[in-house]
Amino acid sequence: MYAGHFAIGFAFSSRFRDVPPWIPLFGIGLLDIVDGVLVGAGVERVTPSAQANGYMHMALDFIDWDHSLLMSLVWSALAGLVAWRAGGKRWAMVAAAAVFSHFLADLAMHDPDLALWPYSSAHVGLGAWSSLPVGSWFLEVIFVISMILIGCSNGIQSLNASKYPIMVMAFLAVQLTPWWSPMILTGDAGTSSSPVIYGLFIVVGFILPASLMSWFMMRPPRANIGS
Ligand SMILES: [Zn+2]
Repeated sequence: MYAGHFAIGFAFSSRFRDVPPWIPLFGIGLLDIVDGVLVGAGVERVTPSAQANGYMHMALDFIDWDHSLLMSLVWSALAGLVAWRAGGKRWAMVAAAAVFSHFLADLAMHDPDLALWPYSSAHVGLGAWSSLPVGSWFLEVIFVISMILIGCSNGIQSLNASKYPIMVMAFLAVQLTPWWSPMILTGDAGTSSSPVIYGLFIVVGFILPASLMSWFMMRPPRANIGS
């Protein structure tokens, strides 16, 4: 999942107004940020593949240090601990839940490439990307809209107040589609350079939107800006 992760972060930050929005918005991407760094550094391995993971075009050969069930729980606990030290129980709860939500959302989309623990031979993944090459994208869009509605349960007014973060999510959903997946580029770049390019794509692809959405959500309401 991609835009869907941010939609979960958006729902969290809209519902837990007392927790800074960047906590869930970076939390939902933590596993992929770690993944990008470890693949780029050569610790983990992915291979460009037209067949694997639908429009991701990527066989995720070894991503156990961030995307296994056990390590997702470990990263969630770590994020929760740091947030707890920094801001208390509610920060911790939102951080841990946001980080772990990434595993659950990926579980629906990924081929069975999510190990139960590092080096485990047991892998899970419901494979929506592969079994529904186009339908999975529509399902993700429906999921994003549902999360927006959960976040904006106060109706039109809250939708209006969130229009910029919503635009970011719409952009993310539109730029990663079965028809023009930017992930093809990481394969075209050749196998020697592609781990670094893949890493860069993933890290930037999560840090940039998370920063932008956090900034929009932390801005004071428009009435307070100038006249
Ligand atoms: Zn992921």
